[in-house]
Amino acid sequence: MLVGDNPASKVYVSSKIAACEKLGLASIQVAPPATITTAELLAIVEDLNRRDDVDGILVQLPLPPQVDAKKILDAVDPAKDVDGFHPVNVGRLQSGQPGLAPCTPAGIMEILRRSGLPVAGQNAVVVGRSDIVGKPAALMLLNASATVTVCHSKTIDLPRFTRQADLLVAAIGRPGFVTAEMVKPGATLIDVGINRVTDADEVEEFFPGDAGRAATFAKRGSVVVGDIHPAAFASAGAYTPVPGGVGALTIAMLMQNTVTAAKLRRGILSEKKREKN
Ligand code: NDP
Repeated sequence: MLVGDNPASKVYVSSKIAACEKLGLASIQVAPPATITTAELLAIVEDLNRRDDVDGILVQLPLPPQVDAKKILDAVDPAKDVDGFHPVNVGRLQSGQPGLAPCTPAGIMEILRRSGLPVAGQNAVVVGRSDIVGKPAALMLLNASATVTVCHSKTIDLPRFTRQADLLVAAIGRPGFVTAEMVKPGATLIDVGINRVTDADEVEEFFPGDAGRAATFAKRGSVVVGDIHPAAFASAGAYTPVPGGVGALTIAMLMQNTVTAAKLRRGILSEKKREKN
């Protein structure tokens, strides 16, 4: 569901539709105008909840200011909540039960699993506590038996915590915020941040002598930088680049959630498989 004409939202939604097409999943775009009321949007969600041919509902955020976003997200049938934002799915994640989990942190876990990186027993530090990234990432790492610390803007002496991390997740929204001095050599660095830098000096500071980045900047007037300073990657044991790291997994996990939702609604997944999902 794409409400109004936010240009960034349009790009995200078209990438999601393209991913559906690539995988052979049918997708319907519902695009009401930006002037829609909460009641009108609720009626659309309720209609999609009732439709048996719809397995997953995604409400692209942000919603226009006059719409009660929480009311809309809470109205989505938890069985069709492919973003994993509904309180029922949040509760399932919290209690370690199978359900539909938020896509970005699920992508982080998938990267760790596929790369064979250890999680159990590791000191994991998550910087950021948003409902869509930081908090669920911390829960997933805890469920995978890491020892988890969650830091945020009120944390006193942040480097003291980040330097302890075997596994550091940065989900802050500030370009290059985590510097090389703040990380332990050999640590696994997971950079969730997607920040656009438009200042030429800053680009040179983040990527000195990087001809590719300079060319991108000359062409587009901006480059994308994560929340971890690129200089910190030099001593990392492993790291996710920006772009091309965590972001690339988010849509993939959305697709996986959709297939999981379809199977769960049809009773196809066995209990064992549900646990794995
Ligand atoms: P939010 O703005 O919702 O949360 C940011 C978090 O960072 C907050 O918990 C905040 O703390 C914390 N924070 C801010 N400043 C500091 C500081 N100085 N020291 C320590 N912590 C701080 O952001 P999101 O979680 O939505 O997104 C984070 C980043 O990830 C953004 O760059 C976003 O673009 C990117 N993102 C990437 C996705 C992907 O697919 N790769 C998907 C979603 C987001 P407090 O709670 O105290 O305010």
